[in-house]
Amino acid sequence: LLLLLACSFSVYAQKGKDKKIKPRDEFVPELMAKMTIDEKIAQLVQYTADGTVTGPKAGINYIEEIKKGNVGSILNATSVKYTQELQELNLKNSRLKIPLIFGYDVIHGYKTIFPITLGETASWDLEAAELSARIAAEEAAASGVHWTFAPMVDISRDPRWGRVSEGAGEDTYLGTQMAIARVKGFQGNNLMDNNTVLACTKHFAAYGAAEAGRDYNTVDMSERTLREVYLPPFKATVDAGVGTFMTSFNEISGVPATGSKFLLRDILKGEWGFNGFVVTDYTAINELIPHGVAKDSAQAGELAMRAGVDMDMVGGIYMRNLKNLLKEGKVTETQINDACRRVLEAKYDLGLFHNPYRYNDKKREKQVINKKEYLDAALNIANKSMVLLKNDNNVLPLRKEQKIAFVGPLVSDEWNIIGSWAASGDRYGYAVSVEEGINKIITDKNKVSFDKGVEILKDDRSKMQAAIENARKADVIVAVMGEFENMSGEAASRTNIDLPGIQKEFLAELKKLNKPIVLVLMNGRPLNLTWENDNMNAILEAWFPGTMGGDAIAQTLYGINVPSGKLPMTFPRNVGQVPIYYNHKNTGRPYLGATDPEQKYKSRYIDVDNSPLFPFGYGLSYTTFKYSNLKLSSNTMSMNGSIEVSVDITNTGDYNAEEVVQLYIQDKVGSVTRPVKELKGFKKVMIKKGEKKTVTFTVTPENLKFYNIDMIFTAEPGDFEITVGSNSANGLQGEFMLVK
Ligand code: BGC
Repeated sequence: LLLLLACSFSVYAQKGKDKKIKPRDEFVPELMAKMTIDEKIAQLVQYTADGTVTGPKAGINYIEEIKKGNVGSILNATSVKYTQELQELNLKNSRLKIPLIFGYDVIHGYKTIFPITLGETASWDLEAAELSARIAAEEAAASGVHWTFAPMVDISRDPRWGRVSEGAGEDTYLGTQMAIARVKGFQGNNLMDNNTVLACTKHFAAYGAAEAGRDYNTVDMSERTLREVYLPPFKATVDAGVGTFMTSFNEISGVPATGSKFLLRDILKGEWGFNGFVVTDYTAINELIPHGVAKDSAQAGELAMRAGVDMDMVGGIYMRNLKNLLKEGKVTETQINDACRRVLEAKYDLGLFHNPYRYNDKKREKQVINKKEYLDAALNIANKSMVLLKNDNNVLPLRKEQKIAFVGPLVSDEWNIIGSWAASGDRYGYAVSVEEGINKIITDKNKVSFDKGVEILKDDRSKMQAAIENARKADVIVAVMGEFENMSGEAASRTNIDLPGIQKEFLAELKKLNKPIVLVLMNGRPLNLTWENDNMNAILEAWFPGTMGGDAIAQTLYGINVPSGKLPMTFPRNVGQVPIYYNHKNTGRPYLGATDPEQKYKSRYIDVDNSPLFPFGYGLSYTTFKYSNLKLSSNTMSMNGSIEVSVDITNTGDYNAEEVVQLYIQDKVGSVTRPVKELKGFKKVMIKKGEKKTVTFTVTPENLKFYNIDMIFTAEPGDFEITVGSNSANGLQGEFMLVK
């Protein structure tokens, strides 16, 4: 189905015809030869659609600025009508009539909303990730949007950091594959097609490593960790042809990313050969002042331009300072020209010089938004993102003849279920709630009841008793609980990652009824579920599943969908274990578990086990899978060779289901310490009940590379251990040797 959908995309009609113009490497230089320095700087200036330019806001009339040709890009303008109006103002009045580029945060869907990115990543389904980005691009482009600020590819090992909801989780390999898929989806095969949007890889870099998980906080890390763990997804998007990059708000080892020549000029534009343009995060140049590396906005602008920032997002710094800085010799004309060229080339690639209105077509906007096939895809992908964390005595799936009490603050919710960053204006009333989803499956009203019982955060117990009375009459209780959507996201860090408010207290009351309880969770980060795991019979992690989320949850609860998602982040036993991640180092005193007689002086806690509650890659199914017969095609690999690793997987249960088969590698001895294991391959396979499938991976020296003692990225000869399993904490093992 995914493939079929992906093939069915076509290029839509557009307003006016495209002009024939010269090839880019003639067109852009010829245009630049006509531009004054002010006109060049204008290309580096982005306003928001409400006219805000932080700092000089007073007295700035953005409509006038657009008319004068002083603006290169507009943030947050959507709809064909509005983008057309602004573009017209620009084209009718400015001297050189250079089209504006409209940017918007299309993060996990535009109007058809898919699961939050972390949830979608739990599908481990690259086709799904590409498809959701493709659909998001189709819808956004039909609304006049040219450019999205996605994918967010920040690796994070810290669930306190609220922005984990926007990314692919803790793992570099999984995050890299997802990043590539998303760029392909947004940008399509050809940016010139008017159903694509320019993608923006963000936030460069290491934003997810904020100290103590507090958003925007300091990052201090070794270059080895930066390059090995945090940078690969960024690099992969450059190789996949991403058009733009966004700097991050944080500093890294003393240098704010937005003023970091090392990151922008040396690594991104130098080493990686990135030829697109770099935009700052929102007012990030201005923030060089509170960071304490610039005394005023002029110096901030100087630092950013020298570092390699091309476009100033809403900060007004370039607009006010660049010309002067040039006069004073603090920045060069070459630097400004290079930045301007990059922006113009991106506009060229989108076809805006061929026809600035090619994205403006009201009819298409109407046809495209929330199309049935998009909603079907959203349902399908939400289904794939469900992670079953616990299912004692097969309480799930529910049976239609059972009487079920659905309770909890999110049971009828149509707002939070969408997650953050989601065309927020018109989302309410559009999403399918869990209650609606259930009602489509269970038509006998006597079989179901719906009660909120409690709120997410309020201390209000007044409705608890009525919900408990309904629950008393049921065979099974299903509690739909979690976070508010805005409890995970930007500036939404938490030091307590428990289920918020009095939800747990309500669960404890329900438990007294001695009935099986299923907990369905909507949240944007790993939570501490230790108590819930001890006290609930089943736990389904649904994330914020998007527009069709209620249908997906209902279908999963009743077994119409068999859960196949796997955790993209470790779930800790308590917040004190954080940061906790599967690919940690061994230490010189590795703790081997309680059977080790010498455990006292090992690296461990005295109050809690080292292991997480749920490991990375973990997720149950309604069926069971048996792994057997791990085979390596050879137990030696040469430097330019490869080996095949195969394993048999048998579906030993009662449901046809998908399984995510995961391959991990450990480098046993290195010139520097190496992680206990690292994901290096995965395959999502459908296996019918009773069926056996052989899954094969190819391992090459490329999979074994790391930054060695001399900071050379290489694979070192020696022994390696391979584990193939259903999560990061189990599996069948084999060994091989890499030889010179
Ligand atoms: C966020 C970015 C986002 C930008 C524009 C910032 O606050 O950090 O992720 O793209 O705003 O909306």
